[in-house]
Amino acid sequence: MVKETKLYDILNVSPNATPEEIKRGYKKAALKWHPDKNPDNPDASEKFKEVGMAYEILNDEKKRSIYDKHGEDGLKEGGGMEFHDAGGLFEELFGGGFFGGGGRRGPRKADDVVHHLQMSLEDLYTGKTKKLALSRQIVCPDCSGKGASKPSAVKTCPACNGAGVRVYLQQLGPGFVTQSRAPCRDCKQKGVIIDSKDLCKRCNGDCVVQDRKIVEVHIEAGSSAGQRYKFDGDGDQEPDTIPGDLIVVLEEKQHQTFQRKGADLLLKKTITLAEALCGFQMEITHVSGKRLLIKSDETEVIKPGQERMVEGEGMTVYRRPLDKGNLIITFDVLFPEKGSINQTMKKHLLVIFPKPAPVHPPEGGYDEEFELTEITQDSQSRSRARAQQQRARQQEDDDDERGGFPGGAQTVQCGAQ
Ligand SMILES: [Zn+2]
Ligand SMILES: [Zn+2]
Repeated sequence: MVKETKLYDILNVSPNATPEEIKRGYKKAALKWHPDKNPDNPDASEKFKEVGMAYEILNDEKKRSIYDKHGEDGLKEGGGMEFHDAGGLFEELFGGGFFGGGGRRGPRKADDVVHHLQMSLEDLYTGKTKKLALSRQIVCPDCSGKGASKPSAVKTCPACNGAGVRVYLQQLGPGFVTQSRAPCRDCKQKGVIIDSKDLCKRCNGDCVVQDRKIVEVHIEAGSSAGQRYKFDGDGDQEPDTIPGDLIVVLEEKQHQTFQRKGADLLLKKTITLAEALCGFQMEITHVSGKRLLIKSDETEVIKPGQERMVEGEGMTVYRRPLDKGNLIITFDVLFPEKGSINQTMKKHLLVIFPKPAPVHPPEGGYDEEFELTEITQDSQSRSRARAQQQRARQQEDDDDERGGFPGGAQTVQCGAQ
């Protein structure tokens, strides 16, 4: 019995299929879901990848037996679930160019434009539509990326025959010549030349120009730093290539009051000792814009470093706008300064609090009595110096012992003879 059948189901074979049946199952499923065959189905490439992954695992005796025994979780532990190159596997089995692609992995793509967008916690809480003015490179609209004012002015570069690269010969000495392939200098690697009088006025023969584009990004409530919004084809353009994508990456601005941890908001608050013992109220302006009054519970005693929470007053949960995280407050308690509690105050305090623990002196009293002092920098450096001296003395003692070992040096000499 196998633990799961998901991968077998993907290939539409039974769990006791032979390796040949698995291979056949893969071929059928891969042909069905190949992205070239399903240009209008956005899910196809994901399915195709899944099919590749299922085959990769079931075709491997070791991985298959792990999967049969422990399911996908077993493979995850061994790192066996990673699979990236579905196209490569397909070509391996079917040969390149099965769908007329000539073995290439799709046409070249121009550069993506990556824009980092700083967001405040307030905006991330509510979600926001941002208008971005972005600069990108587009194919020159005047010459359609040809670089010339009229199509007939574009001529194949005679120096490289349109290849863009040339073999250059270099004489190193009499009868000694090396060859090197390098970009064609005449056409600057383009493979075509245009007479300077026929150059496109707008792009000056560069075929591309800079363009400003206004993009609206709808940032969903609860989004977080590192999240990416992708705009297919809104990146850089180059002639005869697929346009790059525009990728907007969110960053979170540091907030004056709050820190964010997932869906929770964290807040640090200092209260006085009296507040810690007797209760307190505080006002905060929440990232939602609401002004909140927060009160301690009647029985509350807050110790330094303790946390309390306000349920449901954290950040918006991503894709669940009605759900919120919690607001978590970490308290620091401000104690009175040294010397600020006088005798009268002490008397009052001792009425309220339990009396200090008594001591029981031995017969004849204590040998000595001390008063605690604060640890000063001076006293710390003195004790460091003492520790150093002690280590040095120990080292000396150790050296003396080794040197004084009777016959120690003798033994070595004997061995050498
Ligand atoms: Zn050339
Ligand atoms: Zn142009």
